[in-house]
Amino acid sequence: MNKKHIVCTQCVMDTSDKDIYFNEKGVCSHCLNFDETYHVSPAQEEENLASLAVKLKSHSAKYDCIVGMSGGVDSSYVAHLAAEMNLNPLVVHLDNGWNSRLAIRNVAKIIDKHQFDLETLIIDWQEFRDLQKAFLRAGVIDIELLTDHAITATLYRLAQKHNIKYILSGVNYATEHGMPLSWNWNKDDKTNIEAIHKQFGEVKLSTFPLISQKKLASLRQSETGPESINVLNLINYSAARAKQELQSGYGWEAYSGKHFESVFTRFYQSYILPVKFGVDKRKVHLSALIRNGEINREQAMLELAKPAIENRQLLRDRDYVIDKLEMDLESFEGLMKSSPVPHEHYASDFTASHQLRKQSGFIANLFKKESQVEKQASALLKHYLDRYQGKTFVIYCAGEIGARTLEQAREKGVYEKIVAVVDNKANHNQHNLGDILVQSPEVLGSLDFEVLLIASHKYQDEIFQNLISLPNMTEKTLIRLRDC
Ligand SMILES: [Zn+2]
Repeated sequence: MNKKHIVCTQCVMDTSDKDIYFNEKGVCSHCLNFDETYHVSPAQEEENLASLAVKLKSHSAKYDCIVGMSGGVDSSYVAHLAAEMNLNPLVVHLDNGWNSRLAIRNVAKIIDKHQFDLETLIIDWQEFRDLQKAFLRAGVIDIELLTDHAITATLYRLAQKHNIKYILSGVNYATEHGMPLSWNWNKDDKTNIEAIHKQFGEVKLSTFPLISQKKLASLRQSETGPESINVLNLINYSAARAKQELQSGYGWEAYSGKHFESVFTRFYQSYILPVKFGVDKRKVHLSALIRNGEINREQAMLELAKPAIENRQLLRDRDYVIDKLEMDLESFEGLMKSSPVPHEHYASDFTASHQLRKQSGFIANLFKKESQVEKQASALLKHYLDRYQGKTFVIYCAGEIGARTLEQAREKGVYEKIVAVVDNKANHNQHNLGDILVQSPEVLGSLDFEVLLIASHKYQDEIFQNLISLPNMTEKTLIRLRDC
């Protein structure tokens, strides 16, 4: 059955995201789940950076932090912020063979100005080409996962080698919020990389940077292991403003398209994704800009109506990519025509959690329907009880509906099924469960629950990491919720 094509009335996301849903006003789940409270005031921004600087300088290693830098806007701006905070970072650049000269020039401009030390890791091209070809043959969507995984593995390895306690990351909510789950895959999934390579690869992997999910989880949890900080979430990050500042401060050069600093990324986003997967990632980036108040919907529509890249350039890129991968046009186009294969089809560290995250969309939707508190609370309670029949669960939620859900649970005599509940807005002066679960992950292990429902987005990733690294994870489940 062909699903009707629907576009959100607030942003430009549409039914090419197969997990999207809309409320009665045609507003999509990404807009509904968008958390406006992530905005910080200019005074708070300053305070955030000042206290981060104090924290990062408080240990005696040569470098205060490590910054992975591609030469694109997000990572360049992170390096710029490190300079603003008077930090001495070790800058790491990963060369996977695809970086544009422009990206490399951008890296040089920033590190030269601040005399930052740079370590460039050149990935063995035979191995990387073989991995990319294996992913193409496997038919999976997230070919970029290979680069992202290699960066993470390299940053953690170098942080340990140089005794660096902090990793400053360019991952950010402002410009990346709302990526459909089916459009990418978990970047930490070493098992998936190895399984795909085993089936479709031809070259033995001996130097490609890999790190297991288990090792990552234990480093992220340990007192001494490097802590990754998404510094762009501490400020009101705007990619447009960042570009301007970088241009005027460093002569940094802009490129068209998000992440077009790599030739492969440019081709992947403007050809492989739309042709094989029916995915136009510009919709996510433009929608994030709309929600961030940087452009309006009409401007985004106009942008989308244009081709992502000029046709002549696209064909040049295609020839270049096919040639560099040592493929021929016919077999490459054959792969483009074959059906996509989900990452879950191959062995993975994340199959179960991916499914759970998909389910969370349904619950988030319940919160947003504009009906009475009472009705929503009873729908929620019914949903929890139906879904987690006989299980003990933790709800971490906020606001009126959350409070009412609990009261109803009490009235119905099912309260004992819920072991802990925190209303983080009403009890903002007290420690809330989110803080506790992030700062003391062992609490998670000690809580006697089977299902944990997390509402507040600001804790989700960290709690998720803590939870999946628990030894008895198989018996515990995490569902993400939007604030209620
Ligand atoms: Zn929307």
